[in-house]
Amino acid sequence: RVKENGKTGFQRYTAEMNDKVIQTLIMEEWLNRALEEQQFLLHYQPQIEVGKSRITGMEALLRWNHPNLGLIPPGDFIPLAEETGLIISIGEWVLRTACMQNMAWQQAGYAPVKVAVNISPIQFHQSSFVDIVLDALKESGLDPQYLELEITEGIAMYHVEQVIIKLQTLRNHGVQISIDDFGTGYSSLTYLKKFPIHKLKIAQEFVRDLTFDPDDAAIVQAIIAMAHSLKLGVIAEGVETQEQLEFLMDLQCKEIQGYIFSRPVPSHDLIKLLELLPSAAETNSTSESASA
Ligand code: C2E
Ligand code: MG
Ligand code: MG
Ligand code: MG
Repeated sequence: RVKENGKTGFQRYTAEMNDKVIQTLIMEEWLNRALEEQQFLLHYQPQIEVGKSRITGMEALLRWNHPNLGLIPPGDFIPLAEETGLIISIGEWVLRTACMQNMAWQQAGYAPVKVAVNISPIQFHQSSFVDIVLDALKESGLDPQYLELEITEGIAMYHVEQVIIKLQTLRNHGVQISIDDFGTGYSSLTYLKKFPIHKLKIAQEFVRDLTFDPDDAAIVQAIIAMAHSLKLGVIAEGVETQEQLEFLMDLQCKEIQGYIFSRPVPSHDLIKLLELLPSAAETNSTSESASA
């Protein structure tokens, strides 16, 4: 910041603070408008069962198509949406859209697969969360077994008893639950026992250096072994290379999500993938693992 030569520390501080405040206010204003003006869209990234080369699901990933700035990734606006509470209405839109899109694919004749939706802790903690999920299912007509909610360990920071009740209710309705970015949060292993979940998603940060960092390899191996012993599903995310893929397969991690198969793509491009690969339903007769 060369221009600030000669300013006192205090002036520099207030100048930067104002920039930040103004930026945030502008962003907030834009975000407010984005829902009304339908600037949000979902991309989908397939999840693959490797040995059988079949799609088991796809993760819905939010994008903001800003009229001037173009496609903005979720990391750039979700924190602000969480701070302002806008994540609640945005998250509801994501749920409805993902359920309707998945149902539309089924109605178009594609074999059914799950759609996985990311849920912010703030969204999960609102009292009407379960009803919002059930409404999205009812409105779309999607069978609950084809909806997976990706929660993070962060939801365990407050109201644990409420969290368990909500998860149990959703599970009783047939909705699938996975823990996203597993291993990066603050939750303790007790929650694995307490929370009625179906699947662990191994965080990308452990997968990245898996093949050359023995610590990461040990962590990934432990997560996979734990998932197997607890009879939970396990999927590795952020898989980019053939070496990572082989390493994970050696460790008996059969489900993979990552650029190695596909980046997140717009819905019309996902259709090409659905046509290319058989889905779980088509290969069910040869499947040894009954779903939970
Ligand atoms: P996430 O749920 O862990 O999603 C996976 C992220 O990793 C996605 O980034 C995806 O594009 C990226 N990814 C997938 N495969 C690879 C790979 O092989 N290599 C690399 N380098 N990256 C890969 P994206 O779409 O930018 O999303 C970032 C995060 O934003 C998500 O992380 C999730 O926490 C959040 N997010 C996305 N959509 C939503 C949403 O609808 N609601 C909420 N609450 N959060 C969302
Ligand atoms: Mg996710
Ligand atoms: Mg993740
Ligand atoms: Mg490392």
